[in-house]
Amino acid sequence: MKILITTTDKRHRAALARYAQLIRKALLLLAHRHRFVSRLPKTLLLRPLKQKQDGIGSGNHAIAGYSGATGQYYISLNMDVIKIFGRRTLLDTLAHETAHIAEALKTGQWSHGKYFRELHHEALLCLNGRRGLRKSDT
Ligand SMILES: [Zn+2]
Repeated sequence: MKILITTTDKRHRAALARYAQLIRKALLLLAHRHRFVSRLPKTLLLRPLKQKQDGIGSGNHAIAGYSGATGQYYISLNMDVIKIFGRRTLLDTLAHETAHIAEALKTGQWSHGKYFRELHHEALLCLNGRRGLRKSDT
């Protein structure tokens, strides 16, 4: 699975490249642990959040979704999150959106239910470095 950064804005590209690594790490961990590796998409789009888009999000921090038109899963991120709320909120937001993608891949659901919260918790632990990837997971 490759994370494609789709923006022409150079200011955002470097930050999104760092976030992409975190999202990839967390999503791979969830995919192995929850057994949906075979359903991982070839690509996942990561881009700045511009205006209101369809999908499910965490307040106005970010949106995760699937575009039927392009057949692509995506995460759109408000690039001001880290500036306004700091690193902790940014990591929580990345974990939140990663959990949405994970739940959708595993179950087809987009929710904030019990399973979503479990995935979110595991993603957050991963991003906070308490549970890393095993070598065999990459
Ligand atoms: Zn959400």
